[in-house]
Amino acid sequence: MNEEFQQFLEQEFARNELNRLHENYGGGRIFSTPFIGVSSGDDHLYKKYKKVVGPEHYTPAELWLADGLPNQEGLASKLRVVSIVCPFVDEIRIVSKTVKKIPAEIYSVGRNYANPFMLDLLRRIIKYIQDLGYNATAGMLSENFSIYTRGRFYSNFSERHAAYAAGLGTFSLHEGFITEVGCNVRFTSFITDAPFEVTPRRHEDPYGNCLYYSEGTCRKCEEKCPGGAITENGHDKNKCFYYGQKVARKLRDRIGSILKPSSRRINHELRPGWFPVGCAFCQFDVPCMDKNPTAGKQK
Ligand code: SF4
Ligand code: SF4
Repeated sequence: MNEEFQQFLEQEFARNELNRLHENYGGGRIFSTPFIGVSSGDDHLYKKYKKVVGPEHYTPAELWLADGLPNQEGLASKLRVVSIVCPFVDEIRIVSKTVKKIPAEIYSVGRNYANPFMLDLLRRIIKYIQDLGYNATAGMLSENFSIYTRGRFYSNFSERHAAYAAGLGTFSLHEGFITEVGCNVRFTSFITDAPFEVTPRRHEDPYGNCLYYSEGTCRKCEEKCPGGAITENGHDKNKCFYYGQKVARKLRDRIGSILKPSSRRINHELRPGWFPVGCAFCQFDVPCMDKNPTAGKQK
């Protein structure tokens, strides 16, 4: 099942026109080759995430049932969370390394167009799974999904935490997530009762792929962040948010006419008319941009 699905995914990334930049930026792909990791719905980490992320964080079975999918005996152990890593193409990274303070337009367009692509991809995945006779749902598509702003930013289904459970990498100083192909990626996931094989978790240390946490070195992301949002104590989501707002105002003036609108559910209220453009200086031209900088060093 994992191999067949990987093939389906690669075809989708290659042929889906929504995985394309605007023609002003060459019309090439936004994301290169995806890959997956799979966790079990009864992985103990999902219960732990209620403490680590927030009490509202769903276990896979809770989100499944909230989305109206059928219950069965031993449901949690029968569910799989399939996390998908979507790496940005090199073309975006090469240009992004050359700019300061305001992100490269090619990246902002890619970051903006990524949302409609990922939503379309998830709808196609659910159809693919249903055609095989199984069910599926996805946090990104769920009306039950929400971001919370209760003193801090978090959500009730974290893609990065699902990726960690699936063994795809570890957390890091800049609060991105470092996979074997680096941190300059996006994540999405779906929950299914299809018989995917669970992939092993190779990282015992949840921060093991980050050079700062594993060796006390690097901190290049801190140097690169124009918003002062990263220090040796970690990533300040509020400072990052406010710098991101500044960036968004400037980019909307420059390229607003070609941006695509998205919507977000914040504190369970749908807010349309959002035009994400990213920032991500902390992900470009850093040792963890396109690789795991501690590969081969961890026990
Ligand atoms: S740039 Fe260095 S310190 Fe920052 S997240 Fe990457 S590996 Fe860790
Ligand atoms: S996204 Fe921008 S503001 Fe936020 S931590 Fe990264 S570089 Fe800093």
